[in-house]
Amino acid sequence: MFVLHRLGASLILGIVLFSFPARAALHPAPTSSFLDGLVWQLCIPQMLPDAVVENYLFAIYEATPKIDKTGDFTWKDAYAAQLVGMDRKTFVIGGVEAKFKRALYCMFRAMEANGIKAGITSAFRNNFRQFIAGGQRNAPGETYHGGDKVTLGYGYGIAVDIVSLHGSTRAEQLASNPVVWKWIDRNGELFGVGRPYLDRDAPHVTPRTSPEYAAHYLASLRKAILAAMTKTKKKNGRHTKRQ
Ligand SMILES: [Zn+2]
Repeated sequence: MFVLHRLGASLILGIVLFSFPARAALHPAPTSSFLDGLVWQLCIPQMLPDAVVENYLFAIYEATPKIDKTGDFTWKDAYAAQLVGMDRKTFVIGGVEAKFKRALYCMFRAMEANGIKAGITSAFRNNFRQFIAGGQRNAPGETYHGGDKVTLGYGYGIAVDIVSLHGSTRAEQLASNPVVWKWIDRNGELFGVGRPYLDRDAPHVTPRTSPEYAAHYLASLRKAILAAMTKTKKKNGRHTKRQ
């Protein structure tokens, strides 16, 4: 019913926009991305079947190269899943908390509609998987990806790592990461998700209601603002000297 209601409202909005050329001239014309946008505006998390959400997120996960400073870490999820007798999809995506999974589905659909290609390098991680994680990481039980000290474990992972899939080389992909992260900073609120550490652990995304987000986001934002102000001051300083 709600879908029909929303659809009806959108159609009426469309008719209103298209029937008043004078008014439309004052505003940006509806574009195909505007119409694509409607697809995700109709994304009602409560109504999404598990299988649709999980297949979609797993396809994104599969399409994402998993490379860090230690090299290709694709084997880690496969190995951790095998140890608990699960296939990779059941482990990596099935272990993510249900509402968060649906919010991510809607957000990725929205990014797609906006021409943003993003991928998932890591989703659910149990204690063992966290133990073999590389780079900066919390102690095995203490990761919101699914550690058993801060979440209820499997089925309650509330963190995923998101990167860009733009570009055909590794270097291009890395260089385009900020496009994806900035998009999430600007629009994540619509889906209730955000980056608690901003650039200190840039790919890491959680629900905005998570303890991790509450504990770290404002401090990260403050640091980012101070850094930006210092940068501007330096730039202005240089400018003054040149004159
Ligand atoms: Zn993470």
